[in-house]
Amino acid sequence: MTKFSDLKLSPKVLKAINEAGYETPTPIQAGAIPPALEGRDVLGIAQTGTGKTASFTLPMITMLARGRARARMPRSLVLCPTRELAAQVAENFDTYAKHVKLTKALLIGGVSFKEQDIAIDKGVDVLIATPGRLLDHFERGKLILNDVKIMVVDEADRMLDMGFIPDIERIFGLTPFTRQTLFFSATMAPEIERITNTFLSNPERIEVARQATTGENITQGVLMFKGSRKDREASEKRKVLRALIDAEGDKCTNAIVFCNRKMDVDIVAKSLKKYGYDAAPIHGDLDQSQRTRTLDGFREGSLRFLIASDVAARGLDVPSVSHVFNFDVPSHAEDYVHRIGRTGRAGRDGTAIMICTLRDEKNLADVERLVQREIPRLDNPLGGNATPDEVPEKKSADESGAKPKRSRSRSRKSDAAPKAETPKAQEAKAEAPQKETGKDASKASETSRQVQSEQRSDKNNHDREAKRDGGRDNKQGRNDNRGGRNDNRGGRGNDRSQNHKVIGLGDHTPEFIELSFADRPDS
Ligand code: AMP
Repeated sequence: MTKFSDLKLSPKVLKAINEAGYETPTPIQAGAIPPALEGRDVLGIAQTGTGKTASFTLPMITMLARGRARARMPRSLVLCPTRELAAQVAENFDTYAKHVKLTKALLIGGVSFKEQDIAIDKGVDVLIATPGRLLDHFERGKLILNDVKIMVVDEADRMLDMGFIPDIERIFGLTPFTRQTLFFSATMAPEIERITNTFLSNPERIEVARQATTGENITQGVLMFKGSRKDREASEKRKVLRALIDAEGDKCTNAIVFCNRKMDVDIVAKSLKKYGYDAAPIHGDLDQSQRTRTLDGFREGSLRFLIASDVAARGLDVPSVSHVFNFDVPSHAEDYVHRIGRTGRAGRDGTAIMICTLRDEKNLADVERLVQREIPRLDNPLGGNATPDEVPEKKSADESGAKPKRSRSRSRKSDAAPKAETPKAQEAKAEAPQKETGKDASKASETSRQVQSEQRSDKNNHDREAKRDGGRDNKQGRNDNRGGRNDNRGGRGNDRSQNHKVIGLGDHTPEFIELSFADRPDS
């Protein structure tokens, strides 16, 4: 078996590894470190949790130990898709370079340019950045990339999902042709293959096994769930989530709850909090200091439930997460692999529990195809059905039988938020203000308004990076992208239905108006 001491890392790096408590290199480390130290390009096909961060930071620290950076001319560059991942890579540098004098700077959105400018001006050995913020600095003339000797692209597949590939290509073009490239991706989509063929020179290719297909230490389960009524499904689903959490008892020391949509992240977090669970949300619309605070709390154990979107939680390394709850089946099957990889880390046992509604069944089939196993079906801890907390409501238009045939995009719209609760929940709220539907639904519409207004103010207040983070959260893949657009339409439509009467149509109502209104209660 390969030992760290066989890998030709500098003694100071070996000392730091020893102090970190690592005994043997992981397969990606054993495979990537030797060619990287020889100055070769590396193509690592590995995902988070495999030790890939150390597989590029350790040789970089060894190689950069000699030489000095000049002002505004970083000697190496690490590109990460999200701020959190960039911050985590920076932490890794701190750990492994503690006995070496290296300067580093972190260029991420949501942080003032000024501090970052000062750091770059001093000259940095390692620049860790998200692509948008890096290009912003470059365009402001604050950064020269001609001295970059090593460039790392981390989580390239996620860069692709987030639409960063043109930025990456541009950054490649701004760095010297002679640079060494260390490139990491969990999968090799054709577009990624194209980039590596264009910008990597005879790379050493190292592929390590997928976590989900090998992660036998993660107990998986899925609960097939159908609401008693469409308009109650959202609140019933939250109740089922609480029951699933409760059923795990003390085994669930902490958990990440993943939702497909930012809006649901907020709603689920608020709902859990309301029911006494120690929960907080994290997604791209929250400001950086809040995101950092929440994550630190979760890492330190002072926060038990982190409710997250895929992007915000991407690549996060919290070593002891006992449970992952998938409130939704992810619309990208690969996200399932990333999500459940948050638990069962470093050889610990983990549990991943998912809720699947009827409309998620296709996504579930995709997930099972990807992980090449059937995820065991769980019994509903509430018994046969999840009766909602709230008082019965009037029969919805949906159930009256006059439902028009629903298109795929409409059903996506219904995914977006339990908007149907809004008007009806207001009635329910009047009857039973303490009940969840009313309160949560009104919160949902409040959240919806907040998110919409935040999205509008994004333009002025957020820098490009923040917008991209948010954009990805909205995108969540092709299908949800559509859903995202519908969200906005739905939002405006909702406002109109509540606040303005449609006038001037006479006795005759055109059929298309009927259809759009008939569809709304279930949107
Ligand atoms: P990563 O895939 O880079 O996110 O790393 C996953 C986790 O594995 C991190 O918590 C690292 O600190 C840890 N780790 C990395 N390399 C090793 C190693 N050789 N032995 C034990 N733990 C490691």
